[in-house]
Amino acid sequence: MYHSFLIKYAEIATKGKNRYLFEDALVKQIRRALKPVEGHFHVMKEQGRIYAHAEGDYDYDGAVGALGRVFGIVGICPVVILDDEGFEKLSQDVIAYLDEAYPDKHFTFKVMARRARKNYPKNSNQINAELGEAILQAFPDIRVDVHHPDIYLNVEIRERIYVYSQTIPGAGGMPVGTAGKAMLLLSGGIDSPVAGYMIAKRGAKIDAVYFHAPPYTSERAKQKVVDLAKEVARYSGPIELHVVNFTDIQLYIYETCPHDQLTILMRRYMMRIAEQIALEKDCLGLITGESIGQVASQTMQSLMATNEVCTLPVYRPLIAFDKQDIVTISEKIGTYETSILPYEDCCTIFVAKHPVTKPNLKVIHRSEEKLGEKIDEMVKTALETREVIWAE
Ligand code: ATP
Ligand code: MG
Repeated sequence: MYHSFLIKYAEIATKGKNRYLFEDALVKQIRRALKPVEGHFHVMKEQGRIYAHAEGDYDYDGAVGALGRVFGIVGICPVVILDDEGFEKLSQDVIAYLDEAYPDKHFTFKVMARRARKNYPKNSNQINAELGEAILQAFPDIRVDVHHPDIYLNVEIRERIYVYSQTIPGAGGMPVGTAGKAMLLLSGGIDSPVAGYMIAKRGAKIDAVYFHAPPYTSERAKQKVVDLAKEVARYSGPIELHVVNFTDIQLYIYETCPHDQLTILMRRYMMRIAEQIALEKDCLGLITGESIGQVASQTMQSLMATNEVCTLPVYRPLIAFDKQDIVTISEKIGTYETSILPYEDCCTIFVAKHPVTKPNLKVIHRSEEKLGEKIDEMVKTALETREVIWAE
């Protein structure tokens, strides 16, 4: 029945002279999202609105699913578009529409007519009253409720006539491409994919870096991160994933420094390397899945120690979230099942029994001095030998 979707987007971002940038980015993201869906779609701006029109047969559920992952959309309205062949024909078509869209007729409704084309022979009040009447006559179980109807039946008279009554909730946020780009530190855990999702939701493009420690971490652990990047990419668009071999750096820190500082020192080198790649790739910030107090490396003292090595802003969208709230989002966005697969993580392998929870910066600096110039060489090698995988 439906061959078009009216795309509703948040008004707040559309004000002023930048409105077209927002809309163009949204159109681009909708086209990208619909590309893998079976069917042929035309996405366009028309009279201050965005529509996705399907040409011929297409996968309706696939299209709704894809549109539901586009940030910037607040509602997806499947719409029936009719030619204007007189009011009598319009009434018949609207009745046929309701009949098909709502097999169970026990509901209340209200007609919301809008006459964008002023030469239409009836005004909106007349359309509301006369269409309402025709519907009541056609379906004895249906009732009118002008205050709290179950269904708002929108009838918009333009060059053609647009009829819709369902709004499927969208993902919200801002279209990807309306903010800058940020580098996500993506591990195989639950948190970092959610963190990437949240920043992409604010309109940022995402690249990612994963620190891999073969042979201590397996190919399967790496594949899990690639899979997570692909899952986040369903929302954010393609992610360039940099896989950095971290083994030598980890082993060298392990041999050289007190073991209880290992996690913090490793985290500092991860941030330094991620920042190098971020700057190279014109990213405006880093993203991590950290949350205050979740583990030893995420106390406020530890966060301060990790933060110290970066000049780029570090976005930590989960900073005040409880674990359960993060789990809920990861289930909703579909990363949870992959995140809980039991493969080893490079942070856990060398982890001390009693890591420092309140690292002292002076002590950390002293440990890093012991690493000397050799660590800089290792960082350089890690950067040069990184593998790039496109996740989409
Ligand atoms: P997550 O669930 O995201 O793995 P976590 O609770 O395991 O987080 P940590 O291991 O302390 O927490 O990591 C904190 C953050 O550091 C992660 O959210 C992620 O952004 C980054 N990070 C940790 N390990 C790696 C890794 N191997 N590669 C890339 N980033 C990492
Ligand atoms: Mg982790």
